[in-house]
Amino acid sequence: MPLLVMKFGGTSVATLDRIRRAAKRVGREVANGYDVIVIVSAMSGETNKLVGYVGETSPLYDAREYDAVVSSGENVTAGLMALTLQEMEIPARSWQGWQVPVKTTSAHASARIEEIPTDNIMAKFGEGMKVAVVAGFQGISPEGRITTLGRGGSDTTAVAFAAAFAAERCDIYTDVDGVYTTDPRITAKARKLEKISFEEMLELASLGAKVLQTRSVELAMRYKVRLRVLSSFEEMDDSAGTLVCDEEEIVESKAVAGVAYSRDEAKMTLTEVEDRPGIAAAIFGPLAEAAINVDMIVQNISEEGKTDMTFSLPIDQVKRAQKALDEAKARNDIGFAELLIDSDVCKVSIVGIGMRSHAGVAAKMFATLRDEGINIKVITTSEIKVSVLVDRKYLELAVQALHDAFELDRAA
Ligand code: ASP
Ligand code: MG
Repeated sequence: MPLLVMKFGGTSVATLDRIRRAAKRVGREVANGYDVIVIVSAMSGETNKLVGYVGETSPLYDAREYDAVVSSGENVTAGLMALTLQEMEIPARSWQGWQVPVKTTSAHASARIEEIPTDNIMAKFGEGMKVAVVAGFQGISPEGRITTLGRGGSDTTAVAFAAAFAAERCDIYTDVDGVYTTDPRITAKARKLEKISFEEMLELASLGAKVLQTRSVELAMRYKVRLRVLSSFEEMDDSAGTLVCDEEEIVESKAVAGVAYSRDEAKMTLTEVEDRPGIAAAIFGPLAEAAINVDMIVQNISEEGKTDMTFSLPIDQVKRAQKALDEAKARNDIGFAELLIDSDVCKVSIVGIGMRSHAGVAAKMFATLRDEGINIKVITTSEIKVSVLVDRKYLELAVQALHDAFELDRAA
């Protein structure tokens, strides 16, 4: 039997009525001749509520108990989905992560899936079961404790199942009807993409687009799982949504596929650090140990053996970074004159595999921002993206101007 993975996000299972609608979609695929593995999230808002309970009960909580609590929202929806399917006379049963078992690392609250044995579920398909409903987001550690995969982790559960079971496709049902050229809340000209490559999606997800958990795209890329992102609210034909797929399948040949942003960034500058071998290691080592997600890094040219070192990071990590750097200074591991902090910045990025073959993309981006009077504070590039740090008050303007400049409202 061909096999499909269908994942329903929190808004798609938020009420019993929506679970029924989701189940109907599953029923349609069963009627099309598929065996289906359904991955469910918790009802929307549920995981946040559980996270809140944990924090209120125990500020410095035991991460193993955190996972025991926050994974539970998915148990409820898995059972309810199986019951709903049974009511529709579709043979179905639920599995919690540990029952499969979804084997993960022991990194509680951000565990990685290591292995998904297929024999249990395949045996049931062999006995005539049509739908296996699996609680997303959760697994079991080598120590036998319940783990979770990080917020948004049921996307990753879905892709991992699709890879393990060699599913024909992995459909991710969510509250948006696909992947857009940028956030439609920022510009009404944002256009839904029919297809996007794994690499572009990976950049967009890690640069702040919130449609898919970044890790799930990484997995999809590695195992070449064809992913479809679509809405569970609209009645749609099979071509609907956005297909995340291999580059070869994409005909659109635009330089830029999308504009992403991340609003809550900060920039820190260490002034007058000594320009000597090992200085970057001495600065960024302690930051790494403090689990700071340093993103962009710029080292100025030095004058008289001294240089400025600037980097960006998520705004909520500034205090921890400051502490780590001050401690390194107190230990005499590093020296600097001042630690300057700018908490009013955001990151805007353009992404596209077409950049590999189109020249002048970065220059066009810079000229567009210049024409809007937007000053660029830090720049980084990769083969398929250019990111800039600008004042947060320019976020909307920068996104709109770049979307216009690269004509993203029009298909290639
Ligand atoms: N329920 C979890 C969360 O809200 C996992 C998920 O929905 O992907 O993060
Ligand atoms: Mg999600």
